[in-house]
Amino acid sequence: MATPLTATQMLAALKAEGLTVHEHAGWKTHNRDAATGRSFGPVIGVLIHHTAGHGDRELCYNGRSDLPGPLCHAWLGKTDGLWTIANGRANHAGGVDLDVLNALRAEKPLPVDNQANADGNDVLYGLEIENLGDGKDPYPDAQYDQAVLWAAAICRAHGWSEKSVAGHKEVQPGKVDPSFDMDDFRADVKKQLATEPAKTAPAPSKTSPAPSKTHPAPPKAGKPRVDLSRLVQAAKTDPGAKQGHVSYMAGTNLTEAALVKLGYLAKTYAGDGSFGTTTIAAYAKWQRHLGYSGAEADGIPGKISLSKLGDTTGLFTVVA
Ligand SMILES: [Zn+2]
Repeated sequence: MATPLTATQMLAALKAEGLTVHEHAGWKTHNRDAATGRSFGPVIGVLIHHTAGHGDRELCYNGRSDLPGPLCHAWLGKTDGLWTIANGRANHAGGVDLDVLNALRAEKPLPVDNQANADGNDVLYGLEIENLGDGKDPYPDAQYDQAVLWAAAICRAHGWSEKSVAGHKEVQPGKVDPSFDMDDFRADVKKQLATEPAKTAPAPSKTSPAPSKTHPAPPKAGKPRVDLSRLVQAAKTDPGAKQGHVSYMAGTNLTEAALVKLGYLAKTYAGDGSFGTTTIAAYAKWQRHLGYSGAEADGIPGKISLSKLGDTTGLFTVVA
């Protein structure tokens, strides 16, 4: 299952995507889990809102008399930057259409939201963007770009595509936020996900000569790499360990994202960084697809099957 990111994982993901993050005091333990008796997760997507107001960061943290805070996971000011507000369940989505949730989970086109028969606060991360939402109040480029980075950071951390992103107006009948086009927004998230996150770009070597204009441009940073031996260790360790045991989060998430992309693994099980029994079973299916059988299709990655998985999906290359 896609376990919600911890506060530490969330911060790392947002910063790796290139965001400057402001932390609201207390955000790491601010949530509605205890008050409602319902825990946040497994998570299936991210939801975009506008606040329909201005100067409402504290309102989003504290809530209103009729709706206790937190009202989102992050608040994005018009000029005040991105603030983390909550970690856990937040009151942002409310009653939503179960058909839309299921489409988000499966990364399928979203059907029209015509009922509110599920609780979106169980399963969705929420971003509140400071904007009047009247169609006249502009979103400065810098603000909009940060919203794209926020959504991309969470999708990347879970191995999701832009199809895991929705606007509030797409999931709850009667809602109008956000006041920009969500297909455009998803296209921008897709573009961002196709780039390397800032933090993983290789650092320039201190001993390399100073760049010269006559030198050819350095090769573009390649695809993410999965270390075969570390992945094999994760596949042998995680299933027998305590649930959610994580040995090699980055490599496991990339492998799971590839298995999801090819239809061997349900998205619900991907993205928590643990190479559990469900992932083993999914990987074994991929091995059988390649023609392996018996002990050669035991769900433990091998060099050839993993390289083919990375090549076929275009998601990673393998280092042995
Ligand atoms: Zn909303």
